Amino acid sequence: MILKPDASRTLRIACLQRLPTARPPSVAPPAPVVFLKRLPLLLSILSCLLLMLAGCGQGGGQGGGQQLLALRGATMGTTYSVQIVKPPAALDRNALAEQIKTALADINGLMSTYQPSSELSRFNASSATDWFLVSPELVAVVKAAQAVSEASAGAFDITVGPLVNLWGFGPTVSADVLPNAGEIQAARARVGWQQLDVQLQPPALRKARPDLYVDLSAIAKGYAVDQLATLVEAFGVDNYLVEIGGELRGRGLNGRGEPWQIAIERPETSKRAMFRVVALHDMGMATSGDYRNFFEIDGEHYSHTIDPATGEPVDHRLASVTVLAAETMQADAWATALLVLGPERGFALAEQLGLAAFFIEHAQDAPDGEPFMTQATAAFHTLSVAALD
Ligand code: ADP
Ligand code: MG
Repeated sequence: MILKPDASRTLRIACLQRLPTARPPSVAPPAPVVFLKRLPLLLSILSCLLLMLAGCGQGGGQGGGQQLLALRGATMGTTYSVQIVKPPAALDRNALAEQIKTALADINGLMSTYQPSSELSRFNASSATDWFLVSPELVAVVKAAQAVSEASAGAFDITVGPLVNLWGFGPTVSADVLPNAGEIQAARARVGWQQLDVQLQPPALRKARPDLYVDLSAIAKGYAVDQLATLVEAFGVDNYLVEIGGELRGRGLNGRGEPWQIAIERPETSKRAMFRVVALHDMGMATSGDYRNFFEIDGEHYSHTIDPATGEPVDHRLASVTVLAAETMQADAWATALLVLGPERGFALAEQLGLAAFFIEHAQDAPDGEPFMTQATAAFHTLSVAALD
């Protein structure tokens, strides 16, 4: 989530060649937002995505015969990594590293709700209901978000911010109690994607009500992954895997000369089994789930994904939704939209729109002891070429 403290998003990275498991450096997140009994999810218990980077080398540097260049750091309350196989000889590693940092800082400077000075925060703080000039980049992301809202009948809604904040998942620290019905109703009155207008020329946003609040957390990481991919390509790189907080984009070949392979792992640890291996051919991939960012009170589980129709955290059997798309931004937004819609309506819509989506559900009653059920859309079957031998 954009600039959201989220220590649980560290992903394990392993290589199919049985190389020792490597983890991205654990980057200390900003002070956690404390709300009720927020559970830092233990990676060992709840990890769902295991990135299997087939054939990745162990080196992090260039030269000396090393074939993998890995650049990592912190952004958006989580971590990023850029892995490059066989970097061009002339590649200026330091220049690339600097430009990646600058690009991420620029995106946060436009789209973060955690930076009071960001363009989006200034728009949120303004009570003007006439056009508010913003950058073309912000307009592009908001426009993409609005299209997903329309196609998902409002399940995806970037104006859901007041509810996100009310439930304690936004930048504002909430009281240590569940919101009451009156508060939920008041926040819901401020939510509605149709109350936000977008204009390309000149690039601008407009609120239909002065207290509208826009939260791009469910789409901005995907956008940033796409931007880093474009940047890396501009450096003449053909083979790369870019990742921010679990949203990915891969192109070209890994260190074994195969497409990048990403495993969707079972969300449990007793066995390190996986449901599916996805070969990322010039594609983006994003996952939204109920297990990474939530709190529990009295045994109830409250997800950070809000159903705008109820004003409450989603509450159904879906453990996660993974989406593949040409743009990671689309995958990111749709993973959230489908998670909101749930296993039936979400799956039906994904099939209808030809989206490549993989759903993992908690089984209702598991007579055979299998706690999960999975469903993949036809497009997912086509796009994810399982490549594990
Ligand atoms: P993650 O940040 O874990 O990758 P998502 O991409 O699913 O997860 O984004 C979840 C975040 O999006 C929430 O923390 C909240 O800020 C925002 N959000 C919650 N519900 C919705 C929704 N229905 N539509 C759009 N954004 C949402
Ligand atoms: Mg998302």
